[in-house]
Amino acid sequence: MKFLMRKCPKCGRYTFKEVCPICGARTVSAHPPRFSPTDKYVRYRVVLRELSRNTYSTTKVRS
Ligand SMILES: [Zn+2]
Repeated sequence: MKFLMRKCPKCGRYTFKEVCPICGARTVSAHPPRFSPTDKYVRYRVVLRELSRNTYSTTKVRS
């Protein structure tokens, strides 16, 4: 059985319906994916920035 809780972004009410029974707003999944594509990109860019910074400075290896 799939258990999918949804949450209203407006009033913060948890429901199973796609539309909030209180305010009628569209609900969103209360279980967002742990790793979103944008998250991956941000992490990748941070790593790239660190790498480019290291090439300009001396070769320091952080553990
Ligand atoms: Zn609502």
